[in-house]
Amino acid sequence: MTATPTLREISCADDYDPNSMAVDRARELIRQFLTPVSATERVHVRAALDRVLAEDLVSPIAVPGHDNSAMDGWAVRFADLASERDTELARVGDSFAGKPHRGAIGPGQAVRIFTGGVMPAGADTVVMQERATEIPGGVRIAAGAVLKQGQLVFRRGQPVRPAELGMIASLGINEVTVYRRLRVAFFSTGDELRAVGTPLAKGEIYDSNRYTLHGMLTRLNCDTVDMGVIPDVPDALERAFATAAANADVVITSGGVSVGDADFVKPLLGKLGEVLFWKIAMKPGRPLAYGKIGGAHFFGLPGNPVAVMVTFYEFVRDALLVLQGRQDIAPMPTFKATLAAPIRKLPGRTEFQRGILTPSVGGGFEVRTTGDQGSGILSSMSQANCFIVLSAATGNVAAGETVDVQPLEGLI
Ligand code: AMP
Ligand code: MG
Repeated sequence: MTATPTLREISCADDYDPNSMAVDRARELIRQFLTPVSATERVHVRAALDRVLAEDLVSPIAVPGHDNSAMDGWAVRFADLASERDTELARVGDSFAGKPHRGAIGPGQAVRIFTGGVMPAGADTVVMQERATEIPGGVRIAAGAVLKQGQLVFRRGQPVRPAELGMIASLGINEVTVYRRLRVAFFSTGDELRAVGTPLAKGEIYDSNRYTLHGMLTRLNCDTVDMGVIPDVPDALERAFATAAANADVVITSGGVSVGDADFVKPLLGKLGEVLFWKIAMKPGRPLAYGKIGGAHFFGLPGNPVAVMVTFYEFVRDALLVLQGRQDIAPMPTFKATLAAPIRKLPGRTEFQRGILTPSVGGGFEVRTTGDQGSGILSSMSQANCFIVLSAATGNVAAGETVDVQPLEGLI
């Protein structure tokens, strides 16, 4: 095993080109520096929604265990069930509601049971019929159809979604250990930016990036620290970076990393930490800075509103999931759709065009762009329900060709 390289070592590697960094390469580099939070807290099961389990959860009970069956299935002896392979049992009778099976069941035996049927003597578990297959003279029960006491239910790193909440509750567990929430500080940079609620002078625009960031971070269940707009003034920026890094696990800024700006932001961040400035071979979202300021991870996103959202979803989101303690993060699903209208593109950069995906008449899906792909046109993100992902090598694409799409639902 090799030790994690430092940021400085990375910037000396042979295939390192800060002026044309491939999307995958940038993701890979960032990944090497991410260590999940370690602090945990005990929370009530209800409060665990959207958190990440910090412990393995084992079943404290054998489920289910009733006198009357709550479902149609097979009454069995729990001890007979193998967890690693299917179990075959002999059918020795039936138990209907109001018409119980008279005898007891012994080892290797089962009784067909229906909702409301009394559990026969000797049986302690009902396997729902969907998990069982009737065979001549008996039943075959799928391995793992019933949770055994002490059986691993979820591993550490499991995100808690509605299904996991229900599973945890079904085991009678009312408190779980989860990782603490990530604290993320963010601010916008730019002399031209005004906060909403104030009038605009000539040449000024409203700051929208802090709002998309607030939304994206809140959806990921982060604690947020909104630090407002910081003007393009070195002293003010230096103070803001230092305060943000001292108070958060992650610092995210927008603007100020494009060519001219970076000229003075770069030395400033060099003083406070170790930050790499990349021109990612993607569109939108060319300039991106990543590094450490003190103990905090830093993402310097471009200023253009669409670029902020695309770089957040393609780089920051995954990084936050890792830092939150998530294990085995699956890449966002991509699938194929038929292009409904041609797309013009130059090879060289990966493009994330905003697309509208609709079912095709003949089955499958077709996709078209939202129209003008300018990186300042935030309405494209609002209209889109997917990214059309065009690889760096791709050039013009004709109508009828197949393209990769990444649905936004689930991502956002
Ligand atoms: P920059 O990367 O700072 O050169 O910004 C690129 C473009 O994005 C400029 O047109 C900025 O005015 C615009 N921009 C930068 N920050 C924001 C923001 N917070 N909200 C809206 N537009 C912004
Ligand atoms: Mg700017």
